[in-house]
Amino acid sequence: MCRHLAWLGRPRTLAELVLEPPSSLLVQSWAPRRQRHGTVNADGWGVGFWTPGRAEPARWRSARPLWTDASFASVAPSLSSGCVVAAVRSATVGMPIEESAAAPFTDGRVLLSHNGRVDRAVLPPVRDAESTVDSALLASLVFARGLDAMGDVVREVGRLDPGARLNLLATDGARLVATTWGDTLSILGTPDGTALASEPWDDDPAWTDVPDRSLVVVTPDGVAVTPLDRSEPE
Ligand code: GLN
Repeated sequence: MCRHLAWLGRPRTLAELVLEPPSSLLVQSWAPRRQRHGTVNADGWGVGFWTPGRAEPARWRSARPLWTDASFASVAPSLSSGCVVAAVRSATVGMPIEESAAAPFTDGRVLLSHNGRVDRAVLPPVRDAESTVDSALLASLVFARGLDAMGDVVREVGRLDPGARLNLLATDGARLVATTWGDTLSILGTPDGTALASEPWDDDPAWTDVPDRSLVVVTPDGVAVTPLDRSEPE
């Protein structure tokens, strides 16, 4: 499992969000506290964020461990954004290790990260995936169906591959949409905005854990958590 996070709210620097907290994504890249699969997240990392005056999100990704990226550490205090997604990667066995396999993935409008794995054989064919990694194929599926359908995509893929782990975290710059399906996710509400993270980046008691098989939608107006596994008529 990889680790990911997102922020929606008052602009914060990438250093504040990714590098500085005591159990930041940087620390989680070698010492995650709640990771159930894999021990280190050293197979790449990435961050995507919106900046004023530009419709497309900016991205910085790498196939190397986050802790080796001195250039990012140098510029991160100077980069601010009110909508950010970042991830560190522990590659699933058999998946390529390359920059284009590191989250967040994008179609130019949405950023998406995935904690987990899925059997690529059960996925419908997708166009324009950034990599052959399972997460990039899932991302293309969500990009094609739209953010509103992300919960449906997770339910459908979960039915096709009952062993799949499908914690997705996506944003279109205006809202965050996340799923829990086999791994952890926590929420931190602050007066300045809302954070979602695979695991808390500090010991603030305000972090709350999201139940498994949930859909989380964060807007400037609030957070909605709804169950994903309600039984539906077939
Ligand atoms: N399956 C994805 C990959 O190989 C995600 C892995 C993970 O969550 N550790 O990159």
